[in-house]
Amino acid sequence: IKGSNYLETLSKVGRIVFDKTGTLTKGSFEVTEIRAEEIAEEEFIKLAALAESSSTHPIARSIVKAYGKEPDISQVENLTEISGHGVKAVISGREVAVGNDKLMENEGAEISGDCGNATETVIYVAVDKKYAGSIVISDRLKDNSKAAISALKDIGISDITLLTGDGEAAAKAVAEELGIDSVYARLLPGDKVDKLEEMLNNDNKKLAFAGDGINDAPVLSRADVGIAMGALGSDAAIEAADIVLMDDDPLKIPK
Ligand code: ADP
Ligand code: MG
Repeated sequence: IKGSNYLETLSKVGRIVFDKTGTLTKGSFEVTEIRAEEIAEEEFIKLAALAESSSTHPIARSIVKAYGKEPDISQVENLTEISGHGVKAVISGREVAVGNDKLMENEGAEISGDCGNATETVIYVAVDKKYAGSIVISDRLKDNSKAAISALKDIGISDITLLTGDGEAAAKAVAEELGIDSVYARLLPGDKVDKLEEMLNNDNKKLAFAGDGINDAPVLSRADVGIAMGALGSDAAIEAADIVLMDDDPLKIPK
């Protein structure tokens, strides 16, 4: 806790806003399905892994892990990471894009075929602006997330909101499971700040935000009290936050 003033503010908190990935979920994604549409599966996962090779996002790490080999980055050029969307790279002359539906929209690639269970995170791949298939990735709730939400309600904080850059269906499934009534999905880092500003202006209750800092460091610093996950979270989060949970256990928040 970076100052006694934050403890003081905590005692006046009437609303808590949570990030989903890495905060209420473990953020340890695992690829559960690979659906190559146009190219052979082996080539498909290789292109995706190469494009993700330098990203530190948990989604990227799970894709590299599913590839199972050390990606040969000498074939990769022009790598760019587009926050809240995914990554793009040129691999052996081919333009590869790996990310969500918004990224596919930007690429002009039309998503088709079966894309897996809607409550899981689905990542799409386009090659030379043509849709090439999807990767289904699953994450799990942290063991104490449900207990943390109900403990917060027990101490009178009934106003709990979930903000996420992930898709609508995955966000709603998590919220329902945890008993969170208010959910905003598909948010870019800037949208998260806008949403938070709206909430800060709407009432005079103090607002706490809890996140892991991957794409939400600006919100952590904007909230009345920013609470970061220290073990999993990024350095930016630890820097931006007022309170850092050293063990990432959400049950420490009601405590
Ligand atoms: P959250 O708000 O749930 O913590 P993020 O803001 O980190 O999620 O990411 C939002 C979405 O952007 C992800 O669910 C994913 O669809 C997409 N995305 C972000 N980074 C990557 C990446 N490196 N590879 C693929 N997709 C990504
Ligand atoms: Mg996150």
